[in-house]
Amino acid sequence: MSANAELRASRLLVFVGPAGAGKTTIAHRLRAARPERRAFSVSHTTRPMRAGERDGEDYHFVSREAFETLRDQHGFAEWAEVHGNLYGTSVAEIERLRSAGKDMLFDIDIQGAHSLYRLYEHETWLCFLLPPSWPVLVARLLGRGTETEETVKRRLRTARLELLGVLESPAPWHVVVNDALDRTHTELEARLDDPKAAPTDVHNHPAVRAFLEDALADPRAS
Ligand code: ADP
Ligand code: 5GP
Repeated sequence: MSANAELRASRLLVFVGPAGAGKTTIAHRLRAARPERRAFSVSHTTRPMRAGERDGEDYHFVSREAFETLRDQHGFAEWAEVHGNLYGTSVAEIERLRSAGKDMLFDIDIQGAHSLYRLYEHETWLCFLLPPSWPVLVARLLGRGTETEETVKRRLRTARLELLGVLESPAPWHVVVNDALDRTHTELEARLDDPKAAPTDVHNHPAVRAFLEDALADPRAS
């Protein structure tokens, strides 16, 4: 590693995108590729722990009261209510990873992404991960077998709203289509390695336009 790379400031690598787009899978790949350089930002949440999750690894699972106390003490860099539960990134988490010299991987919603961008504009790199198409997203959600008709609708609605959020965003976004995992990973590494890599012209991106057209035409997402 060059002296320059060692001196580079820690970056906030923020992944937003529809549930099922592949954010978790991609974040794990990026971390595994450079474990000495990258770490996950572990959020706080008030939602109950799911089977297979571990406190302190997937999230810091806390009571609503504990969350609100930390929030009132300005302990969160950003927080949001998502589907009735509170989620937030603590200032302490960012400082801890920063002092360890790590780039931080975030899987958060678009409100959180915008908050981080406002706070840490120069260190924040925003990625909107898109599934190859709207029908593929629907198929992935239905294929999980864990979704009810209502949760599929909620996720599709959120996908539409987040895409509209990116189109209206004042921040620069890198839109990456997660088609084949190896290709997606290669594209992300290339963008991350090139500080001059231009963000996406979201309004003229063919996959964004196709995805939006299908999202607007799907009554389940309205
Ligand atoms: P998210 O975190 O965005 O909800 P996940 O990473 O959990 O998405 O991925 C959702 C599902 O899609 C998982 O079963 C994962 O293995 C699969 N997946 C992720 N990326 C791809 C891809 N490029 N091609 C096919 N399946 C994928
Ligand atoms: P889940 O409960 O499925 O793990 O996450 C639900 C949603 O909350 C996802 O969209 C995820 O990106 C978002 N989320 C998770 N952690 C945070 C956080 O710290 N801040 C914000 N703003 N959103 C989060």
